[in-house]
Amino acid sequence: MSLTYAEEALSKTRKLVSRPVPNRTIPTIDLLGMKVSRVNRAETLIILQEFIDSAEPHLIITADASAHVIARGDLDYLRIVNHAALVTPDSTGVLWAAKKLGMALEERVSGVDLAEQLCAESARRGYGVYFYGAAPGVAEAAAETMRQRYPGANIVGTADGFQGSPEQQAALLEDIRAKRPAVLLVAMGIPKQEKWIARHLDELRIPVCMGVGGTFDVFSGRAKRAPLWMQRRGLEWLYRLIQNPSKYSKVATLPVFMLRVLTGQRLPPV
Ligand code: UDP
Repeated sequence: MSLTYAEEALSKTRKLVSRPVPNRTIPTIDLLGMKVSRVNRAETLIILQEFIDSAEPHLIITADASAHVIARGDLDYLRIVNHAALVTPDSTGVLWAAKKLGMALEERVSGVDLAEQLCAESARRGYGVYFYGAAPGVAEAAAETMRQRYPGANIVGTADGFQGSPEQQAALLEDIRAKRPAVLLVAMGIPKQEKWIARHLDELRIPVCMGVGGTFDVFSGRAKRAPLWMQRRGLEWLYRLIQNPSKYSKVATLPVFMLRVLTGQRLPPV
């Protein structure tokens, strides 16, 4: 039976768990003004566990090429990325750019994989995970999938990503506080999810707060992931585009990003 990408990374990680992280300061590269952490998937999982053990709040970004393009027109977002505890390279575009700029990164560390691995680890270690985001019903369906896939996964709460009114926000924050998760996954797309986390990080004090885009749509089966061969060849973006042509505007940021890399255009300092 072939392993899923997530299972592969998890088994790799288990082999590494006894090994201490070589350097507590997470190495980063400067991708034309945007911070990206120099981490692979196994190291990322170890770092996330360290964040959980520390009980201090951390904001984690999974950055793709669109993040870089969005950051150009949204300096608040760029500031959030550059001050985040961890920024994983979440796309082939970012890997390509890092290589072009002479700072090659090892592999893609995607939000959807990390989210699944955190759920798997939650089943082993018992820590709480909260799902916030996506259309009504999707986060709950996603949680149910994770509970079935990883019996014991402790998904302590879910909320959809359309809690717009102050009353809804207050109730949501109250619910999250009451459930005291160790991991909060926020799936509202870039940059909304990161801005929401940044605003509430200090008051919520959740060790791992991570923006995970369309992850709950994937977990719940509403969106399909590309087959493994496409993921491995860096063609996930093409699969998503064929599946959902409304993704065009996101995919269209790729040539903009590539041009900026090829012409060395830096983001402004923040
Ligand atoms: N979404 C949300 N609240 C909003 C806007 C979007 O919860 O106000 C959800 C949307 O339903 C989808 C996710 O955010 O589940 C964004 O997914 P997308 O695949 O666009 O994110 P990406 O990974 O491309 O950043």
